[in-house]
Amino acid sequence: MARPSPAALDASALPPVDRVLGWPGVNDLSLRHGRTAVLAAARAELGACREKAKSHLLTEHDLEPARLATAIAARVAAATRPRLQLVWNLTGTVLHTNLGRAPLPREAIDAVARAQGEAVALEYDVTTGKRGDRDELVAPRLAALCAAEHATVVNNCAAGLLLTLGALARRREVIVSRGELIEIGGSFRLPDLMRAAGARLIEVGTTNRTHLADYESAISARTAMILKVHPSNYRITGFAAEVPSNALAGLAAARGLPFVVDLGSGALIDLAAYGLPAEPVVADVVAAGADLVLFSGDKLLGGPQAGLIIGRETLIRRLNRDPLKRALRPGKLTYAALDAVLALYQSPESLPERLTTLRLLTRGADSIRATAERLCPVVAAALPAGYVAAIEPVASEIGSGAQPGETLPSYAVAIRPRGTQKASLTSLAGRLRRLPRPILGRLAGDCLFLDMRCLEETAEADFSAEIGRLNR
Ligand SMILES: *Cc1c(COP(=O)(O)O)cnc(C)c1O
Repeated sequence: MARPSPAALDASALPPVDRVLGWPGVNDLSLRHGRTAVLAAARAELGACREKAKSHLLTEHDLEPARLATAIAARVAAATRPRLQLVWNLTGTVLHTNLGRAPLPREAIDAVARAQGEAVALEYDVTTGKRGDRDELVAPRLAALCAAEHATVVNNCAAGLLLTLGALARRREVIVSRGELIEIGGSFRLPDLMRAAGARLIEVGTTNRTHLADYESAISARTAMILKVHPSNYRITGFAAEVPSNALAGLAAARGLPFVVDLGSGALIDLAAYGLPAEPVVADVVAAGADLVLFSGDKLLGGPQAGLIIGRETLIRRLNRDPLKRALRPGKLTYAALDAVLALYQSPESLPERLTTLRLLTRGADSIRATAERLCPVVAAALPAGYVAAIEPVASEIGSGAQPGETLPSYAVAIRPRGTQKASLTSLAGRLRRLPRPILGRLAGDCLFLDMRCLEETAEADFSAEIGRLNR
């Protein structure tokens, strides 16, 4: 407890809240933000003063009308400020789950903007005037792109798995290789999800090796499906063996079981054709005999958060009849964005230019280096004393579990403490995070890397203005 100061006021010195609301600086706030928000802020600020009084720390200065008005204005601003902030993703991870994964292409942004404030024919067939099906907006294109019979859409890939397991394997068994019992960041654990769906997990093989015979001997009258999960965020190397999809598909078909593949990222097109690390292509997995394939909308596809399920029409219809489908279906904004993104895929030639995710992933090291060269002096000028900035080659990652271990050559503005002075990089990183639009880099050892891959030329001026605020 602080020692009572002779100048300390007690709580009786506090002005009544109604009087404070009438002060000019506060009254103006009410006109702009309404009485409710300002009353709440005034009460909170006076409450803080009351606490100070209890600790004998309240002074005349605290109760000056100008100071109180400023503090109340700050509280109103904090209460009404959007919580979802834009950030600069200079982490080097393009599909960063914590940063919202795929940035949408312009066409999808426009489609979402159009759809959000107007009535749309989401489940309405304008030719017949009858009720329609929201999946029909995207299913035909999606199925065609995957060379599959049919498609359905849910909230995300985890929801896709929940629906598939719930609808096809409730109270029955699902066979999965031990090498594929994955946990993905953010509490996605396959065994937990299975339990939540009411399916029983039958693990086969060992962590590093699973053979066709392991699956074969696990099949019983209780088996509902064989599930293969793409090990997204890790890789087993060395003495390892997994059963290829076509062999599993053959076994499942021979025993009358559905073969389901959770691909996670899943590319609609062959990324190797664009010089990127090869990632399983959905159509190839279908061709290998998968009955259902599940993948995310906001990973390599480059669209909104969604879980896409494609495959046999009979199975998709069973999923759509399950009550879980109604609970897991996305809203109109997702369909608007997905529709626009799938339309871009109709012109694959222009995809690397128009699909933002692919444009960032295929961005050439020369172009990234040019950005780093233009911005390095800007960063250097904005840095507080004690730090130096230089251009350095780095390795970006696709992120979201696509091709773990594979990297993309990139360039960063690398910030280090100058000489022997030990200015703290963590404190600098904290200051960058407190900018109006936080700048997020990657701290590694004695260096803060600002990977320039996701900073496109059109955004350089805004970035320069942002980092220029560091010293103000
Ligand atoms: C990312 C991933 C998921 C989860 O996808 P969400 O769309 O985030 O729900 C599931 N399975 C695999 C293999 C993944 O890589």
